[in-house]
Amino acid sequence: MKRIDELDALFAALNARFFDGRLPTYRIRRRPSQQAEHGFIEDAARTIWVCDSPDVRATLLHEMCHIGTAGHGRLFRAKLRRLARHGETWAQAERAYYLREESGLKARPWVALWELSNDLRFGSFVRA
Ligand SMILES: [Zn+2]
Repeated sequence: MKRIDELDALFAALNARFFDGRLPTYRIRRRPSQQAEHGFIEDAARTIWVCDSPDVRATLLHEMCHIGTAGHGRLFRAKLRRLARHGETWAQAERAYYLREESGLKARPWVALWELSNDLRFGSFVRA
């Protein structure tokens, strides 16, 4: 369990490493999970909540990708792809998951094939 100031420091470090330090500062706080989520973002309060996550760092990065990007659509997946290219392999699995979810909903399998051409594995997780 990381302390609050450690989470804020982690945000700053991840912002510098993956987002060129361009993300606005958010406070990172902990709270118990209310549903099955591992984390969520509250833009109005500039706060990211980290719940009972087995991987705080990945959860935080996921929520950081939501800054300026709601939902798990193409823009969000492009951010995950960027993380994956910087060595975050879990991000590739997440991207594949959301892509499959969306292509299932919209029945656009060719989009899935195009985006999945580099995806090798499929992860299971819950993030809001
Ligand atoms: Zn999300």
